[in-house]
Amino acid sequence: MNLILLGPPGAGKGTQATRLEHAYEIAQLSTGEMLRAEVSAGSEIGKKADGLMKAGQLVPDEMIIGIIGGRLDRDDCRNGFILDGFPRTVPQAAALDVMLDEKHLRMDHVMSIEVDDEAMVKRITGRFSCAKCGAGYHEEFQKPKVDGVCDACGSTEFSRRADDNAETVRERLKAYHAQTAPIIDYYDSRGLLRRVDGMEPIDNVTSQLKAAID
Ligand code: ADP
Ligand code: ADP
Ligand code: ZN
Repeated sequence: MNLILLGPPGAGKGTQATRLEHAYEIAQLSTGEMLRAEVSAGSEIGKKADGLMKAGQLVPDEMIIGIIGGRLDRDDCRNGFILDGFPRTVPQAAALDVMLDEKHLRMDHVMSIEVDDEAMVKRITGRFSCAKCGAGYHEEFQKPKVDGVCDACGSTEFSRRADDNAETVRERLKAYHAQTAPIIDYYDSRGLLRRVDGMEPIDNVTSQLKAAID
């Protein structure tokens, strides 16, 4: 099964993709994570992406299409995949259709996580993750069970993203509405779109997603 999770920054794409990855044994493909790995590695792609990401702008379509193309061929995608953060523009959605055709694959569901923009600032500025295993948390909405200790791996080190500040979030929300929101219609007109209420607590959003998928 192949899925896309759509929604503005902070909607819960990463949180939900991790849960669906385990529930359906399919690979979570986060283009934001892939780009952050390029930035840490100091690669040519990373150098080009870094400034754009810090400014809350999208990286060029060709860059991200190149990264995702090769990724779909890996072994862990054999059962299917969840795209988290891709496609983010209409040209990316069109390029994905071509890639899927070439690989004789198809998209099963496109899940739109619907939220209020204003609430996203608090979600983003309170977000942090485990520095060792990457598990995601929130200062108020998703605290570790034991303060300062990762539930998943026991690590006591955490990190925050360079772009998770109030100012950059505003830019990212603008980019979402201008460049990404149009792909909702793109998928709706093909009958692939399923909408869920992302303002509900995390567990309820997971239940809505599973209900829509099953
Ligand atoms: P995205 O990948 O869409 O940017 P995340 O999954 O990283 O979003 O979620 C952003 C932040 O909000 C994280 O700190 C996460 O713990 C928290 N969060 C996710 N879903 C919810 C929810 N339904 N209610 C409250 N907080 C949430
Ligand atoms: P968010 O929490 O905002 O959903 P992501 O981790 O998905 O964040 O993306 C972080 C940044 O990486 C984006 O603001 C953008 O600069 C870049 N990025 C990620 N995916 C894409 C994409 N498909 N197209 C263009 N830029 C992308
Ligand atoms: Zn951890």
